[in-house]
Amino acid sequence: MGATVFETHITEVHRRTRDVLSFRAAVTEGMNYRAGQFMGVTVRADGRELSKYLSFSSAPSEKGYVEFTKKISGSDFSKVLERLKPGDGVTLKMPLGSFLLEEAAPKHLFLSGGIGITPIRSMWKDAFDRRLALDMMLLYGNRTPEDIAFRDDLEAMMGESKSFKTVFSLDTAAACPASWKGRCGFINAAMIKEEAPDYLERVFYVCGPPAMVTHLLSILQGQLQIPESRIKRENFAGY
Ligand SMILES: Cc1cc2nc3c(=O)[nH]c(=O)nc-3n(C[C@H](O)[C@H](O)[C@H](O)COP(=O)(O)OP(=O)(O)OC[C@H]3O[C@@H](n4cnc5c(N)ncnc54)[C@H](O)[C@@H]3O)c2cc1C
Repeated sequence: MGATVFETHITEVHRRTRDVLSFRAAVTEGMNYRAGQFMGVTVRADGRELSKYLSFSSAPSEKGYVEFTKKISGSDFSKVLERLKPGDGVTLKMPLGSFLLEEAAPKHLFLSGGIGITPIRSMWKDAFDRRLALDMMLLYGNRTPEDIAFRDDLEAMMGESKSFKTVFSLDTAAACPASWKGRCGFINAAMIKEEAPDYLERVFYVCGPPAMVTHLLSILQGQLQIPESRIKRENFAGY
């Protein structure tokens, strides 16, 4: 499926965390994609065009809109996004990428941190809505509970289906409140073995900023000896 450029407009803006915003854009004729893919997003302000690659955080089963989700930084692109409101125009080049669910495999383990959750949320929602009979597990790291994007969605899927399990982890013990029921500390080999004793049977998906992806790949390929053929990755180059 080749990428096509679509002129569309924003329909809704949702705040996910203090610095993460989701933007929904109207679907026009021919706008097709698969869960886990990404798009080129172009916005205009003050006579300038600004573009970034952003993953779909929506699933194809969510009809009528496509959604992208951006961690808002101090960049010019982020500043334009922060001002976007329903009706504003946006150009989407889509679909791009091959970070896709291996539907033929029965067991999956997703590793992510922070904003790296976007294509995973897309794949999970897609698998959930299509009632795929797959064992889906996610280890999702964040700095604080307030930084967890899509927590409500992930918990809802876990609550409704035994096949979907998310383990949240906070980066440091100091960040874990007394009431915290998840893990504390960065995702490491011991955590993966404890949470998924059957990890050798799983297909791995790693997504996030380059430093995090490099770190997790070194754990998978080094300490855990996972073959390259069982690891899929999406590198959020640009962070
Ligand atoms: C395949 C793919 C998928 C991706 N999916 C996503 C996604 O779903 N969501 C997402 O958020 N990102 C995603 N990214 C990354 C995205 O494309 C951007 O590179 C990233 O969001 C950083 O863009 P930026 O505009 O915030 O900062 P850039 O302008 O690219 O600068 C990089 C960093 O510098 C800092 N910075 C820049 N300008 C300023 C300033 N004026 N003041 C202070 N600090 C500044 C910011 O901390 C910023 O993070 C993806 C990348 C790829 C390749």
